[in-house]
This record gives sequence, C-alpha cells and structure tokens, in this order.
Amino acid sequence: MNIEENVRAVRQRIAAAAGGRQVTLVAATKMNGKDAVQRAIRAGIDACGENRVQEMVEKLEQDAYAGAPLHFIGSLQKNKVKFVVGRCDLIHSVNSPALLEVIAKKAASLELVQDVLLEVNIAGEASKTGFLPGELPQLLEAAERFSSVHVRGLMAIPPKSRKNGENRRWFAQMRELFIDIGAKTYDNVTMDFLSMGMSDDFEDAILEGSNMVRVGTAIFGARHYDVPTVTDPMTNGGF
Ligand SMILES: *Cc1c(COP(=O)(O)O)cnc(C)c1O
Repeated sequence: MNIEENVRAVRQRIAAAAGGRQVTLVAATKMNGKDAVQRAIRAGIDACGENRVQEMVEKLEQDAYAGAPLHFIGSLQKNKVKFVVGRCDLIHSVNSPALLEVIAKKAASLELVQDVLLEVNIAGEASKTGFLPGELPQLLEAAERFSSVHVRGLMAIPPKSRKNGENRRWFAQMRELFIDIGAKTYDNVTMDFLSMGMSDDFEDAILEGSNMVRVGTAIFGARHYDVPTVTDPMTNGGF
C-alpha cells in the first residue's frame, strides 16, 4: 500500500473539487497501526481521526499521532468521555444533549475548552444517532450554558451511496443548516467546520460545501474486519 501516493492523489482530488477553498483532510486511522499513521502524517494529512476510544488510547501511548492534531470521529459513550476530552483537538460526534453536558463538565474540571462538532442525522435514519435538524436550535441554546465547550460546526454521515451523486442532496441540506446556524448568534458556537465526505463521496461533499473530509480507505486501503483482533470476554467467559 503506497500511503504517500494515496495521500497525494486524495489531495489532488480534493483540490479539484474545492476550487480554491480550504479543505481539512482528516485521515480516518482506525485499524491502522503506528507505522501507517506516521507515514500518512509525514505525507501531509491535516489531522488523524480515530473512532474507538480504546484504540485511540493505545495509539496515544505509542505516540502514533505525533506530528498531527487528533480528532475523535466515532460514536462516543458518556462513560468514555474522560479518555477523550483534552486529548483530542476536535470531537466530531456529539449526538445528544447529555453527551454535550458530560463533555462540558469534564472540560471544565480540566480547565480547558473542548472543541466539538454536532452530529446531524441528516437523512433521519432510524439506525443512526445524531440530531435531527429540527432538534438543533434547542441544542445550540443548551450549548450557550457551557463555556467549556466550543461548538465549531456540524458533522454528518449520510447513508452509504449506491451510485455516484446519490448523497449530494444530503450534503446540500447540511450546507443549508450550516449557513443558517452561522448567520445566528449563540454563545460558544461558531460555524467553522462542516465535516462530511468519506472515501466514496468526498468530492460530492466538497462540491456541496464540506470543508473537512474524513478519509480512510482511499489513504490506507481496505480494512479487514473479518480478522478478529480482540476476544470478547462476555462471549468467551473461560468456561
Ligand atoms: C472509518 C470512518 C471514515 C472513513 O471511512 P472510509 O470510507 O474508509 O473513507 C469516516 N468517518 C468515520 C466516522 C469513520 O468511522
């Protein structure tokens, strides 16, 4: 796998779609070890995005992300917030008012301000977490109470597109939300980052206004989920 060449190619495709706009390239590093992550960093990605807390903690111990900002992009359970706040420059995946509050409390106890994005369930899929667009105003008002969080924008993971261009309407709806919210004034809220677009659809996302893409496969190659890496103690109790 030629990570350096892949990063270069992804950069070129981003530039072609962006027409001069600045787009942050977050490398989705899940299931890739320190060596691969370090190669991607040296090849010039803008940030690493990790999506499992345990994997992130292990890689932090190995200094795997040295040289790049670290983002948390996966779904975050409240009881794991303590491992993430203050260690990540940006949490993409705030998907409930309760999670926002737990993050705010942890950040306050560390006397820091945690940057976060609000995850929007833009297609209203029952299988996904995230806020429905109609729930955002209430949440933004809640964010005004928490000076230890800074809401920097929105994130979305639309349905996997089966054909090219299928997700453009969701991306376009996200851009409208992003612009509408950005035109209003809330304490602790600024609309700086619109995080959307993955390996299969990042060009469409950029064409519709994304300025932050999360790309894994196109940089690191396919992940092999069929290889078990941990034994689940709940299903293998040693009997
Ligand atoms: C894995 C992952 C990505 C990247 O997915 P690819 O299709 O491999 O580019 C983006 N966002 C999140 C939240 C992910 O977990």
